[in-house]
Amino acid sequence: MADDSRDVEVVVVGLGVIGAATLWRLAARGVDVVGVEQFSIGHPWGSSHGSTRMFRTTCLEHPGLVPLARLSRRLWRELEEGAGQPLLDETGGLLIGPPGCHLVAGTLEAARVHDVAVEVLDAPTVADRFPEHHGVPGDHIAVLDPTAGLLRAEDAVRAAAGAAERAGAEVRTGAPVTGIELVDGGAIVTAGTTTIRARQVVVTAGPWLPQLLPDLPLTVVRTPMTWFRPAAGSGRFGVTEFPVFLRDLGGGGIVYGHGAVAGGLVKFALEYDDDAAVFRETSAGDCDRRIAEQDWKRIEAVARWAAPGLAIEPAETTVCMYTLTPDRQFLVGRPHGDPRLVVGGGDSGHAFKHAPGLGEVLADTVLGRPPAVALDFADPDRFDRAR
Ligand SMILES: Cc1cc2nc3c(=O)[nH]c(=O)nc-3n(C[C@H](O)[C@H](O)[C@H](O)COP(=O)(O)OP(=O)(O)OC[C@H]3O[C@@H](n4cnc5c(N)ncnc54)[C@H](O)[C@@H]3O)c2cc1C
Repeated sequence: MADDSRDVEVVVVGLGVIGAATLWRLAARGVDVVGVEQFSIGHPWGSSHGSTRMFRTTCLEHPGLVPLARLSRRLWRELEEGAGQPLLDETGGLLIGPPGCHLVAGTLEAARVHDVAVEVLDAPTVADRFPEHHGVPGDHIAVLDPTAGLLRAEDAVRAAAGAAERAGAEVRTGAPVTGIELVDGGAIVTAGTTTIRARQVVVTAGPWLPQLLPDLPLTVVRTPMTWFRPAAGSGRFGVTEFPVFLRDLGGGGIVYGHGAVAGGLVKFALEYDDDAAVFRETSAGDCDRRIAEQDWKRIEAVARWAAPGLAIEPAETTVCMYTLTPDRQFLVGRPHGDPRLVVGGGDSGHAFKHAPGLGEVLADTVLGRPPAVALDFADPDRFDRAR
């Protein structure tokens, strides 16, 4: 049997969107790096599949994320250029809800602090300009973020891995990493029959992080995604008439989606819901990826009043996973300051848009340089300090 074991500077474990972007940014700096992915690049078993993801710079999750989104936007464009294919379609996006809700107030705050020119629409204007959004109460508003749009999810992961390879990285797929041993001067990573010795290992294993680094405070939650066809006769569901949106449903529920791209389906799905039977805690290994009727009953009920122009039953469904931290911010950095180990994860359901920027910051961390964007609030040790 050929010996494909290697000595390298860095190994990246897990090539979803964050790992692929990290591999790209490390290789772009001339680092000798290998990326290991247990499945194929762009597979549907983790957190980076499902055709599209929303991009926006008005990051309501933390004002400190706006500079990261701006850096990511620049890098998405660079990636597009290198790959020769579109990855980010800036359609503009709507955030709809009562003025005081986190979705609307957080977006307006991020726009104010970072000077993003957004438009505020009252409910009658929403009904007039975006008539497929029904039932928006008179006292709700929408923030129109012109920088929002759609990322092409699987294409983006493949483009990042491809850019990494063109810059000199090696990509290995089809065998899971079964061991990460931190030793004097580096790490030994085992995948199948291969052993890779590296000075540093970057673990970007998404919902599998708890298996590889069990000390991190992470919860994995099963999250179904749903797509609908427009009902016969309703025709204003193109992506420009029904652009990407997030809409507050009250009681912690949020529905999100976007219109059909190139005659495809309309994405209309629940982001959060109190239905613990659907959004249930899981582990990546045991996640039930089958879709049952209970998975789409609630979204179907929401569609009936909020977007009644959609056909009743979902036309397509899939299961994805959020990997949540206690404060819903990411984990980016060196756990316990270990010079051999870097982690990038805890995506908390909002990291896709930031992946190239996170890749850049993770590459800075590996190289011991000041980060392109300060992400102190994502320090993986912050929960230890709070104890
Ligand atoms: C339903 C849903 C909707 C979302 N919507 C948005 C949105 O609109 N905008 C946004 O910005 N974000 C959104 N997100 C969040 C975003 O998709 C995630 O933050 C992002 O995809 C996380 O990427 P990741 O690389 O951390 O994880 P993953 O994509 O899961 O990648 C981890 C990779 O590691 C590999 N791996 C794991 N263990 C091993 C091992 N032992 N050996 C080798 N390989 C291994 C896995 O196979 C996988 O490929 C959404 C997420 C979900 C689930």
